[in-house]
Amino acid sequence: MERVLLLNASYEPLCVVTTRRALTLLLKGRVEAACRDSLEMHGVSHTLRIPTVVRLRRYINVPQRGARWSRHAVFQRDNHTCVYCGIRTGGKQRGKVLSRGDFTIDHVLPISRGGKNTWTNTVCACATCNQRKGNRTPHEANMKLSWEPKTPRVTYLVASGEIPASWKVYLEV
Ligand SMILES: [Zn+2]
Repeated sequence: MERVLLLNASYEPLCVVTTRRALTLLLKGRVEAACRDSLEMHGVSHTLRIPTVVRLRRYINVPQRGARWSRHAVFQRDNHTCVYCGIRTGGKQRGKVLSRGDFTIDHVLPISRGGKNTWTNTVCACATCNQRKGNRTPHEANMKLSWEPKTPRVTYLVASGEIPASWKVYLEV
């Protein structure tokens, strides 16, 4: 099955569609070509050329674009590294070698003060730093975040098999 990469108007990849679906969108004027490469689609009387990347003319809002939040996912994003002191699994703290279980989720703005379980409000922290910070913001505790917690970028695309060269610009592969 020949596939076409569908981009939002902002050039963010949305999904992969069939050439037939891409053709329908093109005919309706919903999308325009976003690359020079094309696929041939043989019709009854003539051959159509479908671009391998198409872009929506109008931006669509996709709710929950980012990866789903979970404690586990935050640990993964932060690579089991304390955002405050930089200690990682295998690192030594007070004579103890830290394992994954020694890390906690710290809420930048504490839950008790309205902080939520969101990507930008949660970070991986060692228990010591978490305790030291307590019910304060990093600023109040005079502690510095080594990186800015962000929503990880995800491509919904099951990028199995070969990825056409024309897609790579958009997929960060
Ligand atoms: Zn720490």
